[in-house]
Amino acid sequence: MEKIQMPVPLVEMDGDEMTRIIWQEIKKELLEPFVALNTEYYDLGLPHRDATGDQVTVDAANAIKKYGVGVKCATITPNADRVKEYNLKEMYKSPNGTIRAMLDGTVFRAPILVKGIHPSVRTWEAPITIARHAFGDVYKDTEAKVPGGAKVELVVTDENGETRLPVYSYNENGGIALSMYNTVDSISSFARSCFSFAVDTKQDLWFSTKDTISKKYDHTFKDIFAEIYENEFKAKFEELGIEYFYTLIDDAVARVIRSKGGFIWALKNYDGDVMSDMVATAFGSLAMMTSVLVSPYGYYEYEAAHGTVTRHYYRHQKGEETSTNSMATIFAWSGALRKRGEMDKNAALMQFADDLEAASIATIEEGVMTKDLALLTELDNVKAVNTVDFIREIRKRLEKKYN
Ligand code: NAD
Repeated sequence: MEKIQMPVPLVEMDGDEMTRIIWQEIKKELLEPFVALNTEYYDLGLPHRDATGDQVTVDAANAIKKYGVGVKCATITPNADRVKEYNLKEMYKSPNGTIRAMLDGTVFRAPILVKGIHPSVRTWEAPITIARHAFGDVYKDTEAKVPGGAKVELVVTDENGETRLPVYSYNENGGIALSMYNTVDSISSFARSCFSFAVDTKQDLWFSTKDTISKKYDHTFKDIFAEIYENEFKAKFEELGIEYFYTLIDDAVARVIRSKGGFIWALKNYDGDVMSDMVATAFGSLAMMTSVLVSPYGYYEYEAAHGTVTRHYYRHQKGEETSTNSMATIFAWSGALRKRGEMDKNAALMQFADDLEAASIATIEEGVMTKDLALLTELDNVKAVNTVDFIREIRKRLEKKYN
């Protein structure tokens, strides 16, 4: 068989530990035999980030701006222990944070559903995609312990001078206070990424805040979304028959639990942090969560939502067998290849992405899976396999279509 051609490259970002091992296996077994893989390679593994003073991460983000699509392996975000373990020159920032800041993107996370592994919420039939606004709010707040008898004010200074807004006057026992912020630019980018992704994936978009209580802060989010929808996306939504729906967060939570799934749920920073863990857990396994960073300028970066699976890596280093689930990393590749295909009008590449996903899902649905899923499934006659054999089993099914 002739390999599928890929005239324009995508940006490949290698990573760390167990996911770095999986990365090589996926390329060797599932991609290179079928596709004339064309990537611009950046090694974001921690040793190379250290060798380049993290310049490689910046270069990779710039390459995504050039080519439009990237796929990233999970990477270590160093803490004090990692600085020692890898003898690092510095405690580098999270590569995901650096790339997100450069692309100004929003992260969309969605679970991979397979028959035989049921969500804890019985009504959910289709994935719920969570879009979290990853800028400002309580993550960048200014906090104070306030002494007894003090008062706290919010002071806004501009060219006309100061406006002082009373916050609270404390009794002799004092208390606590915080201030937080967001910006019109960041909220607008978030809104545009959400609307674009809804159009891309032809799904309804829900957005929820607590605007009845937070009449200026949360209400501004609601207003910016409404304005951008009216002016830039309404016609497209109507043409596709999809809906934009705003509701209070308490109402949204109730509706989400009663829903069948199959929509995007956009949330402010803190709400998204909490709800994405709730939704991921209810759908089953972290190893089955996909993640894509969508920038309002039309750049896409695909990855697995999980980390580098350190525990398995240490076992692998000791020569012990591992059973690491590669589904989310495979779907990062299929997502990136499909997007490359869409951008270049390369139907064969888009078809390959669909076939790779179908072969991966079929493998699990036929009872062949890694241990994390074997513990969750209701299927009978399950064969729990190791890391590499799972990928080889997918290859067998893919070869049936491409031989
Ligand atoms: P992790 O996602 O690697 O693991 C969390 C738990 O889930 C572990 O119990 C692990 O065994 C299990 N798990 C995760 N993915 C799995 C898979 N594919 N198959 C089987 N089990 C799986 O997160 P962690 O342990 O908190 O972090 C490990 C490293 O990953 C850290 O250095 C962290 O900085 C990094 N990290 C990177 C990213 C990223 O690059 N996007 C995200 C999170 C964590």
